[in-house]
Amino acid sequence: MIQKFFAYYRPHKRLFIIDFTSAIIVAILELAFPLAVQWFIDELLPTGEWDQIVTVSVLLLAVYLISTLLQFIVSYLGHKLGINIETDMREQLFTHVQRQSFRFFDNTKTGHVMSRITNDLFDIGELAHHGPEDFFIAIMTFIGAFFIMYNINPELAIIAIIMIPFLIILVTFSNIKMNQAWKNMYIKIADVNGRVEDSVSGVRVVQSFTNEEFEINRFKHDNGQFRLAKLVAYKVMAGTHSSIYMMTRLMTLVVLVVGAWFTVNGKLSYGELVSFVLFINVLIKPVDKISALLELYPKGMAGFRRFLDLIEQDPEIKDRPDAKQVEHLHGNISFNNVHFNYDQHQEVLSDINLTVNAGETVAFVGPSGAGKTTICSLIPRFYDVTEGAITIDGLDIRDMTKQSLRAQIGIVQQDVFLFTGTVRENIAYGKKDATDEEIMDAAKKAHLEEFISELPDGYETQIGERGLKLSGGQKQRLAIARMFLKNPPILILDEATSALDTETEKIIQSALSELAENRTTLIIAHRFATIRDADRVLVVTKEGIAEEGSYSDLVEADGLFARLHNIQYQ
Ligand code: ADP
Ligand code: MG
Repeated sequence: MIQKFFAYYRPHKRLFIIDFTSAIIVAILELAFPLAVQWFIDELLPTGEWDQIVTVSVLLLAVYLISTLLQFIVSYLGHKLGINIETDMREQLFTHVQRQSFRFFDNTKTGHVMSRITNDLFDIGELAHHGPEDFFIAIMTFIGAFFIMYNINPELAIIAIIMIPFLIILVTFSNIKMNQAWKNMYIKIADVNGRVEDSVSGVRVVQSFTNEEFEINRFKHDNGQFRLAKLVAYKVMAGTHSSIYMMTRLMTLVVLVVGAWFTVNGKLSYGELVSFVLFINVLIKPVDKISALLELYPKGMAGFRRFLDLIEQDPEIKDRPDAKQVEHLHGNISFNNVHFNYDQHQEVLSDINLTVNAGETVAFVGPSGAGKTTICSLIPRFYDVTEGAITIDGLDIRDMTKQSLRAQIGIVQQDVFLFTGTVRENIAYGKKDATDEEIMDAAKKAHLEEFISELPDGYETQIGERGLKLSGGQKQRLAIARMFLKNPPILILDEATSALDTETEKIIQSALSELAENRTTLIIAHRFATIRDADRVLVVTKEGIAEEGSYSDLVEADGLFARLHNIQYQ
């Protein structure tokens, strides 16, 4: 898994190398500084050569400045590297999800995908920019510092390092506490968010029961809980910082006292004593860093594992290697012994045989749950048949490229999805390069012209989440306009008019009839008025296709269709 993680560094190799090299130089300078001070005190000072002392001081200043610049580079480039990797991963994930088949979305909650794309990637990003280079350098600095200290005076070095495990325990313990505190805080803020969401989306219920006071009190309680949780987190944080501060001072003091004793006994020079005290800081910094990384690592890796789980799922419906690019299909559709099930438990379609001739309008009726929508979603390969085959113009749809097949099919559903954007953009979703004339022509054919002319900004009016809300009938007409633009030879209308009032239905009916002209059209309808003009009606039940014929033939035949028909026209 680590290997897969590092694969994401490859495109940013240059950035990584600059970052890493700068970090190594910073570490070396950090180790060299106490030694320079030691030499300054022990060798340079006793000579009393003021010129040299000034020169060396200026040199030290220059080194300091360089080190500061390098630290800026390390911090900035390190974070840049992290955010680059995070962006790459987010883009890859989005692309991947976008290409998944319908079954994936049947089994995946939107919230989960969202948290993969945001939270998990934040955790991975956090690891990537505080990441591997920091870890490596922290270890090297620690070992380097200890090695140098040991060379100066082994006893004092051991005294200094003996205290490190206590520091590690302290830092680790604080990190665990800190983690718990943050986790708790996240739970509490989620509660607060939930309350806001509930009372805003349910505001009509709240107010009709005059329960505002009740809601406010519930909110106050949750908000107070969040405050407490956050206070705990801050207390832990303050405690951690001050105890680390105390430990550092304590170590410094111990080294100073023991070192002073050594110095008095002639085992240590003054310079070495100062150097030792300075090295305490060099020794402590990596401990802090490593323990922070040890905490980030499992979080980041868990996020990365969930990321991989998603990324490594291949889309269910893929093109065969020899798939054909189809164009200008006539729309002769035929189902040959088609079986289909969404999951192992139950067969939704068993042995369906049917044909729809090019240019024909065929209506599907039958009880809800019989499989009408399912039949229609097999044609654009939203799902693949479990057994049997579907052909269009004699060619198995699995031998066509998914893209070219779907370009030939238009679907209008009961609930139309509108994207945030203008009316124009939403119509043009059917043909991204449509000209203004084409868009206006499509709107006219969909009987949208009058409606649009009354909008404040006409075609440029914003619709969707933050804009104008459209009624069911208006949305439907917009979807029909998209279809006129797309102009596919095969059209599927899935209960497109069932939720409309009679007046709107008439308008849409006439737009749909015009749309259906010269196309192979499959209509799924509840209302029998919408299918009177169909060339053929198929009655679908759970057992399969029960009846087939023209509207009037089926009424006369006095079967299931006649029964359903009578219920609606009683
Ligand atoms: P109709 O359109 O005739 O009302 P559907 O084709 O929507 O019927 O549904 C047929 C059967 O398949 C129903 O039993 C339904 O519960 C089931 N079904 C529909 N869609 C899915 C899905 N995405 N996943 C699992 N089962 C489904
Ligand atoms: Mg349906």
